[in-house]
Amino acid sequence: MTKRRILAGGIAQESHSFNPIRMGRDSFTITAGADAVARARRTNSTLGGIIDAADAVGAEVIVPTLYRAQSGGPVEDSVFAEMKAIMLEAARRGDFDAIALPLHGGMLTPTLHDPEGVLMQELRAIVGPDVPLTAAFDLHAHVTPEILATCDLLAAYLTNPHADQGATGLRAGRAALAMLDGTLKPALAWAHLPMLTLGNDRTDEEPLQGLQARAAAAVASGAVHDASIFNAQQFLDVPGLGQVVMAYSNGDVTAAKALVSELAADLWNARTRLIGRYPSLNDCLARAVAGAPRPLILGDQGDRVAAGAPGDSTVILHALLGLGMDLPAAMPITDPDAVAQCRAAAVGATVTVTVGGRFSTVAPPVTLTGEVISAGEGASLIYQGPAEKGQRAYVGPFAVLRVGALKVVLTARPYSYIDPEYYRVMGVEPRDQKVVVTRSGYHFTLNYAAIGECITVDTPGMSSYRVKELPFTVARPFYPVDEITLTPQVQVKG
Ligand SMILES: [Zn+2]
Repeated sequence: MTKRRILAGGIAQESHSFNPIRMGRDSFTITAGADAVARARRTNSTLGGIIDAADAVGAEVIVPTLYRAQSGGPVEDSVFAEMKAIMLEAARRGDFDAIALPLHGGMLTPTLHDPEGVLMQELRAIVGPDVPLTAAFDLHAHVTPEILATCDLLAAYLTNPHADQGATGLRAGRAALAMLDGTLKPALAWAHLPMLTLGNDRTDEEPLQGLQARAAAAVASGAVHDASIFNAQQFLDVPGLGQVVMAYSNGDVTAAKALVSELAADLWNARTRLIGRYPSLNDCLARAVAGAPRPLILGDQGDRVAAGAPGDSTVILHALLGLGMDLPAAMPITDPDAVAQCRAAAVGATVTVTVGGRFSTVAPPVTLTGEVISAGEGASLIYQGPAEKGQRAYVGPFAVLRVGALKVVLTARPYSYIDPEYYRVMGVEPRDQKVVVTRSGYHFTLNYAAIGECITVDTPGMSSYRVKELPFTVARPFYPVDEITLTPQVQVKG
């Protein structure tokens, strides 16, 4: 038998409808071919999981291209078009048996609210109905009817904070191979719920923990083949925003339908419990000043680059400055002009620059005078994990300004800082601080747990869970912005 081949690739980015900064090609890490496979093999990534599935049975993964970027504003149409052209050309060449796509599922372009669905539909149009097409998505994906109609099996992360990227890719890869073997005929049941989870949406806490456990038990018992609960990126002003509960039976859809019916009803009934509350910034900083035993690692809830916000909010910077400059602290600000000014002055110079507050307008810019202690054209890092351990990332132009004991890490582009290595490659050691700020709400808690106490703090801004303050129009009505009467409806395919 000839070696089976799986086509994998595409684009992975999470967009924020209200971030006005479009993401261009230079925000993406682009890999392809044997290099992409070598970089992803044995990493906790969706492509790594697809490769694991293939390696286990002696199959080969071919990657025409893979574009990856951090979360941010919508991606330029030209970037999506360039990636899609490469993928479609590879699909036309053929010479593969199945497709398994490592995507995010929550991307936008200025003209498309479902680019992943467009990619899948155009691939399907080329390969026809009989080639298995599966995908691995973040559980914050925006899952559309078009995706579900086109994709044979869609697997979501089962964890938030996300720790199972590789396992998700493995599910998608194995499903494609099982379809080739003829041992799997996915039959889908799914339900859409017009609601958001906002703040109480960790999968290691109730109510999602229990719902995920029931889905996992149904898979483990063999009642269904696979099950996913998509909690959706909360800042997509798109048609059909909300949760999607889905399960696949192997063959007869009955068991999947029953599981989805139960889980969707219970998720809808739990909607008020999924709206969380966060500790106040001032309370957290007071603890740091009073001498908390470990560094406090703060997630800036209102300006989470991990959720697509711009990362230039000065809310926490104002608060830190208000404490005086003696508290060892590190905080990031996206500001290309300030980076250029600091780099022009060079390391060791004292400069006065105005930083932040350009796109995040909930607090004004801050003028700082300090010493440039580090600067560069860019730096590479490898996530130490556990989340996304082994993942390579790159920071572009940067400078670190020291103001008393405060280190303000300035970058030309936004980063989530979900791994301490972001700070380290720019010359700041998080362990040496009393307060470290990240632009993340959940994921940093895994990778900083060994360093300090991780707390997401209640700050205003573009990624605040106070969604009634955001200009949603297209996505409405949805809970909790709107009160909705609903009995969840289960749909089936296959
Ligand atoms: Zn996510």
